[in-house]
Amino acid sequence: MSELSFAALRCHFQTGRSYVISGEGRNRVYGYRTGVHCDLGDIERAEWADMVRELIQQKGEQKLYEQLLQHLKDHNYARESKVELEFKALELHADRIFDDELWVDFLVFNQKYRPEVFASTRLILIMPECCKKPGYLTQTRYEENESYNCCPHCGRWTEISMAKEVQYA
Ligand SMILES: [Zn+2]
Repeated sequence: MSELSFAALRCHFQTGRSYVISGEGRNRVYGYRTGVHCDLGDIERAEWADMVRELIQQKGEQKLYEQLLQHLKDHNYARESKVELEFKALELHADRIFDDELWVDFLVFNQKYRPEVFASTRLILIMPECCKKPGYLTQTRYEENESYNCCPHCGRWTEISMAKEVQYA
């Protein structure tokens, strides 16, 4: 078997289907199987989660995973259960969300947990229409859309202006 990678385990979409556990005709008993569709195929959810957990261990990224999970717990507006949050953290971890400058929480997360990543990120100072106080976007996010973006303060999709590049010494 080829070496496992996060790219190979990256979730493209989740799958679900019912299957017959036992019986025939009207006496059939159905079960429901949920899976994750990734480059390796359609893997049963719990099995997929174990594979990602194992890979996180292998790569020595437990701390990063815990930080991502904590971040989700701190911003759990949908009040998802512990199990759901853990699954989501695994999904985002396999997706390398913490390295994605388009991630809405990229700056908040990295400022708190990975100051070295935060320090080396190109930032753009913008003025959001909603909160009317300056805030930062990653340059990547800004370049994606220079007129509208997520407000760095309240998270709303808003008109932005007064962008300028931050000067580094
Ligand atoms: Zn705002």
